Amino acid sequence: MAEEQMNFQAEVSRLLDIVAHSLYSEKEIFLRELISNAADACDRLRHAALTQGGLLGDDSSFRIRLKADPSARTLTIADNGIGMNREELIDNLGTIARSGTAAFVQQLENKAEGANLIGQFGVGFYSAFMVAEKVEVATRRAGEDRGWLWSSDGRGAFTVAEDADAPARGTRIVLHLRQGEEEYLDAQRIRQIVHTYSDHIAVPVVLESKKEDEPDETLNAASALWTRPKSEITDEQYKEFYHHVGHAFDDPWLRLHFKAEGVMEYTGLLFVPSQKPFDLFHPDRKPGVRLYVKRVFITDDCAELLPPYLRFLRGIVDTEDLPLNVSRELLQNNPRLAKIRQALVKKVLGELKQKAEAAPEEYANFWETFGPVLKEGLYEDGQQRDTLLALARFRSTTREGWVSLADYVKDMKPGQEAIYTITGDDPKALAKSPQLEGFAAKGIEVLLLSDPVDDFWLSMVPAYDGKPFKSVTRGGADLDSIGGGDKKDTAEAEQQDEAAPGIDALIAFVKLTLKDQVKDVRVSKRLTSSPVCLVADEGDLDMHLERMLKAQHQLDRSSQRILEVNPGHAMVKALAAQVGKDGAGGVVEDAAWLLLDQARIIEGEPLPDAVAFSQRLSKLVEKGLLAG
Ligand code: ADP
Ligand code: MG
Repeated sequence: MAEEQMNFQAEVSRLLDIVAHSLYSEKEIFLRELISNAADACDRLRHAALTQGGLLGDDSSFRIRLKADPSARTLTIADNGIGMNREELIDNLGTIARSGTAAFVQQLENKAEGANLIGQFGVGFYSAFMVAEKVEVATRRAGEDRGWLWSSDGRGAFTVAEDADAPARGTRIVLHLRQGEEEYLDAQRIRQIVHTYSDHIAVPVVLESKKEDEPDETLNAASALWTRPKSEITDEQYKEFYHHVGHAFDDPWLRLHFKAEGVMEYTGLLFVPSQKPFDLFHPDRKPGVRLYVKRVFITDDCAELLPPYLRFLRGIVDTEDLPLNVSRELLQNNPRLAKIRQALVKKVLGELKQKAEAAPEEYANFWETFGPVLKEGLYEDGQQRDTLLALARFRSTTREGWVSLADYVKDMKPGQEAIYTITGDDPKALAKSPQLEGFAAKGIEVLLLSDPVDDFWLSMVPAYDGKPFKSVTRGGADLDSIGGGDKKDTAEAEQQDEAAPGIDALIAFVKLTLKDQVKDVRVSKRLTSSPVCLVADEGDLDMHLERMLKAQHQLDRSSQRILEVNPGHAMVKALAAQVGKDGAGGVVEDAAWLLLDQARIIEGEPLPDAVAFSQRLSKLVEKGLLAG
C-alpha cells in the first residue's frame, strides 16, 4: 500500500501547536510518557496471550529498549508489546481518545495558558514533539502479518505506509531530535531520567550499549512497585507510579498501600488525586484502577472492582484469588471480586474518615474536589450510607466553612427536630432565598446544597442520627416550636403586631383569583422581609428537583405550588386594606397575579405569560405615579 497522508484531528493539531511552542521546563517527561506507553503495550500483550495462543511466539520476555545514535541525532524507544495495526495507529496517534482531554484542549483560551497547563493535564505520546522535529513510529500488531510506519513533523499532518522493516512485534519509536536537545543522547542523562520517572515500571528498560564488547544496561528495578516493601519505596517512586497508572499529572493527595491476607488475598496501591480529573463527570470516562492477577495486568476497565462513587481513585489492585485467564464475563457477578470490592470500599472510606479527623483542612479541600462524586454513594450504596453521611461536608447559612452533620446536630436549637436543607443551582443565589428568612431570624442553620446529586440523595436518605432532613421550601415551616433566643421573640412579635387586619380577606381573594394556578394561598411563617414565596406541599416533589427533572426531560408536568404571603410586608398590608373597597377589585386582582409571578421569578421558575406580567406591572406603576 502506498504512503497516505492524513490530517490530525483538530484538537490534536491544537495540542501539538501548544506542545511545540511550550516553554515547559520539564521536557524530559517525554521519555516517561513513551516508556509508560511501551510498558502498557507489554502489559496488554501479556494479558492477550493468556487467552489467545501463538501471540508471543518464541519471544516471551518483555522489554523496552532505548538506543541513542549521536551521529544520526536520534533516540529510539522500542518495545515488544502488543503493537498497533493500521487502524489503531491512525486512531491512537491521530486523535485524542479521551474525550475529557479533547474537550479540555478545545476550551483552552490561548497558547500561553496551554503551555502553563501542559504539565498538569499531560499530552502522552504527543509530548515527543517537545524534543523531536520528526517522529517515526514503526509497529506491528502481535499476531498480524503487516507492519506500518507512521511519520510526522507534528505540524498538522502525518503519513502512514506499509513497512516491511517494522519490528516482528511491538513498536519502535524514532525521535529525530531538534537542535539543542542533544542532552537526550547522553547515556548519563537518560539513566537519570529513567531512574527518576520510570524506575517502577515492571518491564526492564534497557539502554543499548554503544560498543560491541559492552553489555546492555538495565536502567530500572523492573519489579512491580506494589510488591516491594513499603520501607523501600520513596515518595517520589510512589508519585511516578501514580502518574503512570493514573495517566495523571498532579501530586496524589492520599496514598493507600496495603496487603490483605486471609480469606481473600490481594494487594492494593490506591491514590486519591489532588486535582479533579477532567472527565470526572464524563459518561465515557474509564475506571482509574487497574486489575492485576498475580502481577499480570488484566484490565483497566473493570467496573466491578470499585463503585462509581469512588471513581476518582487511581492505582492498582493485584489479587491471588482470580484465575489468570479471567474473562470479562467472569468478572461480572463474581463473588470473589465482590468481596474484594467490599473490602476496598471499607478500607478507602476508613482512611478518608481518619484524614477528616486528623487533617480537617486538607480533608475540606478533598471534599471540595470530590465530595459531589462521593455523595452519589448516599443513594447508590445503602450499606455505606452511615459512613458516607459521616464523611459528608456542607455549606450552610450560619458558617463560613464546611460543616459536618455531627456538628450541625450538635448546634441545633432547642425544640429543633429536623436538619433543614435547601437545594438549588448556585450557592450564592441559594443563600438569598426568601424561604430562609424566618430561619435566619431565629438563627437556625440551613444546609445549602447546590450539587445536582443533592436532590437525589435527599429523596433517598430519610434521616441522620434520627433527625429527618427537611427542605425549607416544602411543607409548613414549623418555626413556632423552635426556640431561637432573643431574635425569635422580636421577629415573631413584629409579625403578629403588624399583621394586617384584612389579611384573611386578601388571602381568600388571591386564592379565588389564581384558582388552579396554585394549590393554596396562605399566611407565611417563614418570610420576614420578602412579600411572597412559593413552597411545595408536604409530600409533593421538591421544587428544585422538579426543575432539574424537567430540564433533563424526565418530567413533563408541573406540580401546583403553595403561595405564601408575608402579612408583615408593607405592600401586603396596603393590599389587605384595599380588598373589598369599591372599585379596588381590578387593582387587587392584578396585584394577585403579580404576587404569584414575583414568587415565580424569585424561585427561578419561568413565567407562563411574561407579556401579561409586563402589562399588569405597567398598569400598576402608572396608577401609582398618577396617584402620587
Ligand atoms: P494514553 O497512554 O494516556 O492512552 P497516549 O497519548 O500516551 O495516551 O497514547 C495514545 C494511545 O496510543 C495509547 O492509548 C495506545 O493505545 C497507543 N500507543 C501509544 N504508544 C504505544 C505503544 N508503544 N504500543 C502500542 N500502543 C501504543
Ligand atoms: Mg500514555
